[in-house]
Amino acid sequence: MVAVPELVCPAGTLAALEAAIDHGADAVYVGLRNETNARNFPGLNLTSADLAAGVRYARDRKRKVYLALNTYAQPGRVALWRRTADEAAAAGVSAIIVADLAVLRHCAGRHPSLPRHLSVQGSATNAESLRFYVENFGVTRAILPRVLALNQVRKLAAHAPLDLEVFAFGGLCVMVEGRCALSSYATGVSPNTCGACSPASSVRWEEEGGRRRVRLNGILIDAFEKTEKAGYPTICKGRFKVDNHVAYALEEPTSLNVLPILGDLAQIPVRAIKIEGRQRSPSYVARVTAVMREALDACARDPKGFAVRPEWAEALTSLSEGRQQTLGAFHRPWR
Ligand code: SF4
Repeated sequence: MVAVPELVCPAGTLAALEAAIDHGADAVYVGLRNETNARNFPGLNLTSADLAAGVRYARDRKRKVYLALNTYAQPGRVALWRRTADEAAAAGVSAIIVADLAVLRHCAGRHPSLPRHLSVQGSATNAESLRFYVENFGVTRAILPRVLALNQVRKLAAHAPLDLEVFAFGGLCVMVEGRCALSSYATGVSPNTCGACSPASSVRWEEEGGRRRVRLNGILIDAFEKTEKAGYPTICKGRFKVDNHVAYALEEPTSLNVLPILGDLAQIPVRAIKIEGRQRSPSYVARVTAVMREALDACARDPKGFAVRPEWAEALTSLSEGRQQTLGAFHRPWR
């Protein structure tokens, strides 16, 4: 058996956390019910009691819970981010995932023995940047933005002063992580500030001419035929008229899927792979986790002979946005 990356899975509820662990996650990442994490939607995320129960559930099975504290602390309100870090430390999480420098400084000073991971929202893509976080805040792992080609990840790993984690499966944003302003532009709220892209309070659905139209703070961003499946509306995945032609002007709904390059990622090696989707159901989390677990175990048994099994591909296709998959930026052979 060779070592393979840790499998880090999402949970927006205690049920999803348990589903992830029961189906093979090595670690689960969660957020608390406030704007300190990038999936701050009504009804989602853990209460303090859930977090304590989730940490116990994971520990009893020798797995880990990481807390996402990865939005940017807003002026005059840093205390909320500090309190959330203190609560996570008291609950016994195994690591904290942070992007904001003020929050990193608080965590490093107040909880020096709690491992700190640099969030994808930190958007660090080169060794110098990573070194900054290691030297100043003792960060031990960085989650890389989904903008690097496989070859760039390989080169970075050769010089990186810390462990690397990459995204493996789930919905893609076109944003340079942590820097997308589309939602802020339309609604004043974004994942970077309040933890929500396209907040539900700004979304309006309306029926017109046999079609469902969706507006974000009054801006028409898509129109669906009655039979068409409609995902959660975000500007980046809206359809717009450009030169009299209506199309996905920025990005089509699609999911990242690294199964075809799992062997490469294991060889680099990256320390962990992450499944996106704290907003997803426990059943989605269970199914994706189970496929990725099987694939990683197969890779550990026979890294050279690793090949994607048709049943894995089929299962992940059925769970992909728009039933489409991509290697995203990983597949840029010219870089
Ligand atoms: S608008 Fe799209 S790219 Fe920007 S944060 Fe929202 S989902 Fe991501």
